[in-house]
Amino acid sequence: MSSLYQTSVSALAGVGKKRVEQFEKLGVTTVGELIRFYPRAYEDWSAVTPIADITEEGVCCIKAVVGAAMSNAVLPGGRFLTKTTVYDDTGTLGLVFFNNRYVSQMLAYGAEYFFYGKVTRDSRGLQMIAPTFASVRGGVYIHPVYRTTAGLASKTIEGAVQKALRLLPEAVGDPLPEPIRKAYGLCGLRQSLCDIHFPSDAEALETARRRLVTEELVVLNLGMRALRERSRTRSGVKIRRDYSGDFEKLLPFRLTGAQRRAVADCVNDMMCKTSQMNRLVQGDVGSGKTAVAASVCYTVICNGFQAAFMAPTEILAAQHYETFRRLFADTDVNVGLLTGSLKESEKKRVRRELADGSVQLVVGTHALITDKTAFCNLGLAVTDEQHRFGVAQRAKLLSKGENPHLLVMSATPIPRTLGLIIFGDLDISVIDELPPHRKPVRTVLRSGRQRDKVYQFIRAEAAQGRQAYIVCPLVEEGETEGLASAEEYAAELMLRHFPDIPVGVVHGQLKSAEKDAVMDAFAKNEYKILVATTVIEVGVDVPNASVMMIENAERFGLSQLHQLRGRVGRGEAQSYCVLISDRLSAVTKQRLEVMCATNDGFKIADEDLKMRGPGDFFGERQHGLPQLAIADFADTESLGLSQKIADDILFRYHDLRNDELNLLRAEIDRLFDRGGHNTMN
Ligand code: ADP
Ligand code: MG
Repeated sequence: MSSLYQTSVSALAGVGKKRVEQFEKLGVTTVGELIRFYPRAYEDWSAVTPIADITEEGVCCIKAVVGAAMSNAVLPGGRFLTKTTVYDDTGTLGLVFFNNRYVSQMLAYGAEYFFYGKVTRDSRGLQMIAPTFASVRGGVYIHPVYRTTAGLASKTIEGAVQKALRLLPEAVGDPLPEPIRKAYGLCGLRQSLCDIHFPSDAEALETARRRLVTEELVVLNLGMRALRERSRTRSGVKIRRDYSGDFEKLLPFRLTGAQRRAVADCVNDMMCKTSQMNRLVQGDVGSGKTAVAASVCYTVICNGFQAAFMAPTEILAAQHYETFRRLFADTDVNVGLLTGSLKESEKKRVRRELADGSVQLVVGTHALITDKTAFCNLGLAVTDEQHRFGVAQRAKLLSKGENPHLLVMSATPIPRTLGLIIFGDLDISVIDELPPHRKPVRTVLRSGRQRDKVYQFIRAEAAQGRQAYIVCPLVEEGETEGLASAEEYAAELMLRHFPDIPVGVVHGQLKSAEKDAVMDAFAKNEYKILVATTVIEVGVDVPNASVMMIENAERFGLSQLHQLRGRVGRGEAQSYCVLISDRLSAVTKQRLEVMCATNDGFKIADEDLKMRGPGDFFGERQHGLPQLAIADFADTESLGLSQKIADDILFRYHDLRNDELNLLRAEIDRLFDRGGHNTMN
């Protein structure tokens, strides 16, 4: 097999220069890659429909005899049309082909074929449009469908794959060692490669698929671990003393057990390990990650180094800055804020103070990683809400010091199995305990007709001194067209429903300073109601807010809704989340009901992943993982299995460098060399 990765597809009969270029567009240059170019779907020809039973439009398979000569015609505009009629024991059906000059030579009058395709109705009745077909003598019922590109049809690819498979040697070297295959009931590579393209039946296909999916995830798993090993060989700045006990005295509350454990994990990493800390602190919204980060920063700073805390939005950075400033008010720690929207002179000053070391803790946005920012002796880099940052940005922040320790924090929109892979290069501490006296947020689903009732409810809460968020997704960030709508919504709210209650508005189009001013006023309880777009999604902390009302809830992903809901339930009062939606399809309803049923971020993340896939989940390829050929990040069962097998392989063979794993290592290199992983390092 490995030599086939060196053999160009041009070695196959019928693959000339033009074809080579077309294959290249699909990412296929070698015979080996072609064999690993798995079908994107299959046509099932095993269930044959008698022609008489075809009464409506749809895709089906018939077994029929060509009963008429082919008639060719050229349509206005140059389209080439071929028609014929076929029959079986029950009836006749017309077939239509477009721009296929060869079809008349390929179908013989009086011969029997399977035809598979879409039946549509026009004025003359039903006909099958551009079916794929094969002689009944072939005896193959499941047909592969490949991803195509201009000029390269699925049928052509199928032919090339057939030829490529003939080049496979009898004994194909298998990346998965035999004992492992035996232990997990996985079939051999040769069998699975043949069956994934041309399965004899559904069972053979499933067996092949399972083996190849598992293999790919094992390869991914081991590759991520290898990356972790690499980052482990660098040593971090020296931390000699633990100051987390002193830090706790600064807090207005006692840390939870889970927070304390997370802090201890970090301090232990920094003091005892020969390599730099590389830790993810994962905890649901409201679990108190900020205090954990602050404690770790404090220890690093008291040991004589600087710490940088990077947040994904300006609002969040400003809020953390305020929190830290208050927290460290009675200490020698100088806290600075560095965000893009600061005045130029202000930025200059903060940068100067970072460079000369007079600011020990800086909170900021991406402004922290621009070339202009330099540190005196950065010892710790913290990124908040990690899923908002690419792996590359994390690396950029680290490059601002000489091997600073790394702490990344994430709420939990990442399902466990996927998290293990994505954060496979990190150690993980989980904060699995909320601060005391928290009551779970009560979540309900309402239609727009019940909106007035919800407003009355908000009024009652406000009368008790509490506050409410109303989120409307009408104005997207960067979208100017709907600009008026968040404003309009608020205006109408104030005029019609809350003329006597102060209402603030915050959306993506406001200048940063304006946003901050509004948020600030809300935090100080000067506004009772805050109408907002999703700019408040991450991290904002106003414990007095007890209602989160979300308009057009169907437009949000579950994880996003969970983040929004996490803005309430932060104080001791019972909090509520009201999802408003008028467009309730069965699926939407089911989705939103998940929100009403659970407050568990992990469960919600799993559901979200099932329903939307990781692409949506992380935004544009934010997870920075390699592109998979057959496996699916949403397949948590296989993810779990692959994790186990990867453990097992390392247990049996001790080290990836073991000679028995040569082929497996080659597959790891292949996966990580393909495009899409360039943010890995
Ligand atoms: P997140 O994990 O979502 O970032 P935060 O760090 O913003 O959560 O904390 C949420 C709220 O809980 C804040 O108001 C914070 O002051 C408070 N908090 C954090 N830890 C504790 C604790 N141990 N006891 C009481 N309140 C706490
Ligand atoms: Mg937070």
